[in-house]
Amino acid sequence: MPDKWIPQEIEPKWQQKWDADGLYRARIDTGRVKHYAMTMYPYPSGDLHIGHWYAMAPSDVRARWMRMRGYNVVFPMGFDAFGLPAENAAIRHKIHPKQWTYANIERMRKQLRSMGAMFDWERECVTCDPEYYRWTQWFFLKLYDAGLAYKKLAPVDFCPTCNTTLAREQVWGEDRHCERCGTPVVKRDLAQWFFKITAYAEELRDFSKMDWPERVTTMQRNWIGRSEGAEVVFRTEAGNHPLPVFTTRPDTLWGATFMVLAPEHPLVEQLTTPECRAAVEAYVEQARRMADIMREAADREKTGVFTGAYAINPVNRERIPIWIADYVLMTYGTGAIMAVPCGDQRDFEFATRYHLPIPVVVAPPGWDGQPFTQAFADPGVMVNSGPFTGFPSIGKYSLEEWTPELAAEYGLPAGLTSQTEGRHAVTRWLEAQGTGKFAVAYRLHDWIISRQRYWGAPIPMITCPKCGIVPVPYPDLPVLLPEDVEFMPTGESPLKFHEGFRSVPCPRCGGAAERETDTMDTFMCSSWYQYAYMQRNWRAGEVVGPDAIPFNPEEGAYWLPVDQYTGGIEHATMHLLYTRFFTKAMRDMGLVSFDEPMLHLFNQGIILGEDSEKMSKSRGNVIAPDDLVQQYGADVVRGYLMFGFRWDQGGPWSSTGVLGIQRFLERAWNLVLETAEAARAQAPGGFARPGRAREIRRGALPESETGPADEAGVRELRRKQHQTIRKASQDMEAFSFNTMLAALMEFSNYLLKAREGAVARTPAWAEAIRALVLLMAPTFPHIAEELWARLGQPYSVHQQAWPAWDEQLAAEEMITIVVQVNGRVRDRFEAPAGIGEAEARARALASEGVQKYLAGQSPLKVIYVPGRLVNIVVR
Ligand SMILES: [Zn+2]
Ligand SMILES: [Zn+2]
Repeated sequence: MPDKWIPQEIEPKWQQKWDADGLYRARIDTGRVKHYAMTMYPYPSGDLHIGHWYAMAPSDVRARWMRMRGYNVVFPMGFDAFGLPAENAAIRHKIHPKQWTYANIERMRKQLRSMGAMFDWERECVTCDPEYYRWTQWFFLKLYDAGLAYKKLAPVDFCPTCNTTLAREQVWGEDRHCERCGTPVVKRDLAQWFFKITAYAEELRDFSKMDWPERVTTMQRNWIGRSEGAEVVFRTEAGNHPLPVFTTRPDTLWGATFMVLAPEHPLVEQLTTPECRAAVEAYVEQARRMADIMREAADREKTGVFTGAYAINPVNRERIPIWIADYVLMTYGTGAIMAVPCGDQRDFEFATRYHLPIPVVVAPPGWDGQPFTQAFADPGVMVNSGPFTGFPSIGKYSLEEWTPELAAEYGLPAGLTSQTEGRHAVTRWLEAQGTGKFAVAYRLHDWIISRQRYWGAPIPMITCPKCGIVPVPYPDLPVLLPEDVEFMPTGESPLKFHEGFRSVPCPRCGGAAERETDTMDTFMCSSWYQYAYMQRNWRAGEVVGPDAIPFNPEEGAYWLPVDQYTGGIEHATMHLLYTRFFTKAMRDMGLVSFDEPMLHLFNQGIILGEDSEKMSKSRGNVIAPDDLVQQYGADVVRGYLMFGFRWDQGGPWSSTGVLGIQRFLERAWNLVLETAEAARAQAPGGFARPGRAREIRRGALPESETGPADEAGVRELRRKQHQTIRKASQDMEAFSFNTMLAALMEFSNYLLKAREGAVARTPAWAEAIRALVLLMAPTFPHIAEELWARLGQPYSVHQQAWPAWDEQLAAEEMITIVVQVNGRVRDRFEAPAGIGEAEARARALASEGVQKYLAGQSPLKVIYVPGRLVNIVVR
């Protein structure tokens, strides 16, 4: 009997050997095709949870598979180590964020090693290391030099009682109160740093140079939110102040009966008349307390107040009232809109509520002149619109989209041009009048990167009373984050109170100046970490200059860009957009020569608790991977995570499912070792012990002791083997890991049965067993390595080629089936040997020869002789 499989013994043994041999260290090899596989690095929370395993282990399997296919694969790992939890731990447990973070990293490194993944630890980067964040700061300076970083006032949450700014996480509840004292917070403007991601808005909407899931690209496209229209300049009646608005429907300008400004609009204060002031001020105060997301919610009742001021509509010189309403945000467009109640449901409701006029300017063809009971936003005909009355309007459609079918649906002319279609014609007219122009608006905002936090990379800027904003000179990087800082939950960066950090001589004039005390958004660290991995020894450090680059150029030239990225979809509109922006900015700085950071992306799903609920400590349904690894070994955990779910979907955890994988591996272990022992027994000197062969379990006898091999059996064995290889390869390609493992299990079950027969004594058997181990290697790296060694094969199984399949060997055996009509042969067809009765009957009935005799009638009877003939009886 083979010895028992004890994963707790073999797994650490192989992990140590792989490590000592540097088996997974990636080296440039221009003779081989590179493959840069990357999975999202973890935040060092201190515990590698099942979600990390679910994201990383299958990614490792895919990377290993690519490696077995002959690609030169790099698969790095690191830690996203700056961020809020470290600071909260400091406040709650009086432990320094640095100490907390590095202790967690130490623990998680061990946990990651227990996974048995092929991470190349030589490239590990930790974003809170000064060697790392000096480059994060370098990127800030480069973006500043490129005109892509600027400082501007932006609203932050502010507690009037505590007299401090609050982080988003410190604002609680529907009424948005202060975490500490319960006072409702207000918005206050604070000078903050922005990155001009909007400069790339148009290019970021182009996904043609990458292969990402449609779900992600759709989310990004919607997030960027491009719309075409016109910028039209209204003017205030008093003071003649310009009020530019963006509209996607310039064809509805004649129906604009009022304007709405965001409560924060800078002109509100000035425009408001004395009699309206009290109401306006109260409304502004209330709006400042609300989160943008609530203000924009579609189901909320729209409220507003009149400022007492009027604007002049530039198309008809009409005097229209100016209101303020909280559903208009300063951050989108110009913070001012023209309201067209007949064409926009929100404006319609607002106008109805406040008794404002609702003239009709675009109506369905054949409109009877009655007032609208709701807004009409479909294509129609312009009415009451001065020189454009009678023009067709295609509404939200573009001229390219305008088809004869659409035209027919709306009862409008099919062949429209920019001269004859209302929206386009009005835009051209506005341009000619000098009151407006064609414009594109995006929903995307510039990226605020200032954080009033300690545990982040300091922003490398200095403010001098004489020189203004002065960047820290490149050679002075990194601006070190001081460690002797008081952690008080003030909501303001602790660096503000660190005199030694804050005061600094101005790099330009040498006078007393102040450092920026905010730190950078941690999304900045993760925007470039795929480039950071292109450096093998991080802690060595290098001189930083504007011409130096944050990675080894040779490594970068060979490995970049990332070929396969894997991770959660929750990053679709943050990290995955920011890193694309970084790459485009880097390209324009001449740092890289490609346009997209990651060519392929795959998003895994989420593992739920056994109760189908989200895992949480309070529910008590958390599955701890460390316990599972201890109990079953890493191979079982890896296998279950891949077999139990569709990777892109996830699902509830199942303890019995884990046992299924364990049983599969136990059986595979015994099967392979029996073959290994039989081979040893057969080898010269193998019969040293009398009766050795008899000890070998049924079927595994060496060929020399059996009769001639069963040829049909060998053919079948080969067919199963090659079919399995084909299926496993196709499934690996498609990230369909569960079906890939199902194919392996089916193959293993087949072998378990076949070992009873003579085929188990043929050389084809040994080949099939080797193929099984090779197919197992990416998913079950430890047991496969052990079995490979026990088969007497050369180290390492992870340096072997993925087995190839032969279509001919994989093909089902074909047989000829004879088709008779009333006992006479009328046709014959080729079919796989395993063809079922239903299919055989269907194919026979469909044959031309038979159709002729049937002449449209149903047969009286169909007789099937399996594997031989179909006889059809007709009248
Ligand atoms: Zn407070
Ligand atoms: Zn100065």
